[in-house]
Amino acid sequence: MKQCINCMTRLPRKEVTEVAWCALCTPCLQVVSDQMKLLHDRPGGADVQIYQCGWCGVARSCGVGWRTRCLVCLDDRSVPDPAVQKIARRLELDGTWRENSELIAALTVKIRLAKYFQPGWTVLATDMHGLPWTAFRWLTKSHGTWGCNAETGEVARLKHSRGEENLLYLVRYGKVLKFGRGNAERVGGHLSLGAVPVLVLSASRQDVTVARDRLKRLHRTEMVSQRTPVDLFAVLPDGQDVTDQFPRS
Ligand SMILES: [Zn+2]
Ligand SMILES: [Zn+2]
Repeated sequence: MKQCINCMTRLPRKEVTEVAWCALCTPCLQVVSDQMKLLHDRPGGADVQIYQCGWCGVARSCGVGWRTRCLVCLDDRSVPDPAVQKIARRLELDGTWRENSELIAALTVKIRLAKYFQPGWTVLATDMHGLPWTAFRWLTKSHGTWGCNAETGEVARLKHSRGEENLLYLVRYGKVLKFGRGNAERVGGHLSLGAVPVLVLSASRQDVTVARDRLKRLHRTEMVSQRTPVDLFAVLPDGQDVTDQFPRS
């Protein structure tokens, strides 16, 4: 027996279809049959297709010949994942379970995308195992993060931005705070994805790493509710405040 990840119905293996790394029953497959629109088909001959969700506009990369669906959108047949609801409570989100789940998924995607921002490239799409249904349970399987070269128009698989990670930052996405370490492109990536800078401190790479690890031990994850006091100076007292270099857009 298999279980449909969207509605949790148990079915014989023959009656589910693999979609976005997970198994879906036929009615759930039907609900999203026209959700994704093809944006780039095998760009530059790469074994990938990039789709965009017609419901919310978020893009997703997918291997050729695979089926996919939106990383963020749930549907009328979806049922709540208890682990995601636990995260929603911790973040003090006040929407319906579905709104909260979609918000967490959208933030998770943005945090992933921000890692790939780099000069000369526009980040197009990523793929994350487990989304839109589950949080923190995904494996590392992915069809990759893809971007478009600003000069040549070439679409290529991106690697993490490699600039020196000498910044400890705190940004706010709506009602959620996110802290982390990174380079200027990382912080700029968050801002262009809709985050507001709260505080950005500059220090040596090593001090930033130690400070980020201390914050992570204190708060357990890098996404916390807006009411959580996240004190960057407490963990990085010699950090230089460079927040002004990251104007609110
Ligand atoms: Zn189903
Ligand atoms: Zn969507």
